[in-house]
Amino acid sequence: MPELPEVETVRRGLHQLYLGRPLLGLVLEGHRTVRRHPPGLLRQLEGRVLEGTDRVGKFLFLRWSGGRDLVVHLRMSGQLRAEQRGAQRRPHTHAVMAFDGAGEVHFVDPRTFGELFLLDEARPEGLGHLGPDALRLSAGHLARALDGRRAPLKALLTDQRVVAGVGNIYADEICFAARVRPDRPAGSLSRPAVARLVAGTTDVLARAIEAGGSTLGDGQYCDLFGQPGSFQLQHAVYGREGLPCRSCARPVARVRLGARSSYFCPRCQR
Ligand SMILES: [Zn+2]
Repeated sequence: MPELPEVETVRRGLHQLYLGRPLLGLVLEGHRTVRRHPPGLLRQLEGRVLEGTDRVGKFLFLRWSGGRDLVVHLRMSGQLRAEQRGAQRRPHTHAVMAFDGAGEVHFVDPRTFGELFLLDEARPEGLGHLGPDALRLSAGHLARALDGRRAPLKALLTDQRVVAGVGNIYADEICFAARVRPDRPAGSLSRPAVARLVAGTTDVLARAIEAGGSTLGDGQYCDLFGQPGSFQLQHAVYGREGLPCRSCARPVARVRLGARSSYFCPRCQR
């Protein structure tokens, strides 16, 4: 599932290819991709110029002339792919945006959890539930969010209401960088440990963006140009059960938290 670094990589590709381009047309297939408002409302975007791109957590924003924002949420398996004009649509293509002089963007989503919507037309909750973007996280905010909580630290780090953009992979990597176990009660962290988490978040995510994100064995994530990321080669713990810790060489351990696995070093993380 794409997390902040993968979504940011896609955003940069969109910015590079389509900024300043008018949208010639937007074609929707299937019924699940636009579900917060009547799908036909997206036709309002036709003829508008892409004036900016933005991202909060895992949500991508395409800002159009006249003050309209199209939100793209890739969720589990969504991809945006740059294609030539009139290119054959691969299976599970649910939306096609054609740009003047710059080809097309295809929204491909086998599992159909992803979605597109106009920000103003979204259901009232909109994006109001999102915590601060993980790249703008402060120690004060995180300390308040963790204070008194008995839930495992990882459950809060991956809660988009606490911090937006961190998911299963990067939560493990951030906990390793901060030398804290992901299964610790969130409220048990000292102030220095919270500060290390904030620093670790910035460091891990910045390095992951630099590497174009992580592409796991399922090959599900790729960027706008179909290229995989390479940060999986730098993972310290995620997916490395039994392999030597990159810091102390002791085998990386795995623990189940809820429905998902978490990876950590029993010596380096407390
Ligand atoms: Zn270690």
